[in-house]
Amino acid sequence: MSTIEAAIERYAPVSRVSAVAGNDLVSQWTGPIAAGFLTLIIFYLSLISTSVPVTSKESATIDSAITQLEAKGFGREALMLRKMVSFRDSDNWLNSVERSENAFAATNFPFFIVTVYPDFFDRTKDDTERAMILLHEAQHLRGANEHDAYAYVWEHRQQLGWTTLSHGGTATFVTVEEQTRENAPDLFTCPQKIWHDCTETLLAKR
Ligand SMILES: [Zn+2]
Repeated sequence: MSTIEAAIERYAPVSRVSAVAGNDLVSQWTGPIAAGFLTLIIFYLSLISTSVPVTSKESATIDSAITQLEAKGFGREALMLRKMVSFRDSDNWLNSVERSENAFAATNFPFFIVTVYPDFFDRTKDDTERAMILLHEAQHLRGANEHDAYAYVWEHRQQLGWTTLSHGGTATFVTVEEQTRENAPDLFTCPQKIWHDCTETLLAKR
């Protein structure tokens, strides 16, 4: 037996002990992780199976809105919406239990499922308004709460091209502004700004 072989033989029992301990550790964690993953898959499938997909016409409308988002510099959100999200036309069982806060769309985090309601197609004026709604849902897809989702869209409305001047009179703008004031009141605490809106730039022009 060579010196090297003797050394291996001498340390082999230790290696075997380590291997056994390592295997125990792996099996200790593999079970719960696999079970958790399986639960998520079953949950996801239950959400998908209890709702219907959007039609091809609706899908084209959604795609135009995503393209608009992309054109306005929201590439990360556009990529996520286009590649990872399953758009649904009707509520799944979870949405039925816990109705969304608005009539345009609802997101199931972390399942990348977005349900679009009739108002998303009928009450919006154009692709920009639909892009605004998808930008809100994209924040939920990243784990944002209502405050942060409303605040993000309101703070980025200039970049999106969805402003008081361009869309201020639409039903969607009026509704979303109201909802933003309710969900992110901290954005409307600037008495020196028009409408107390800390993000409003119109005052500077007066
Ligand atoms: Zn929301």
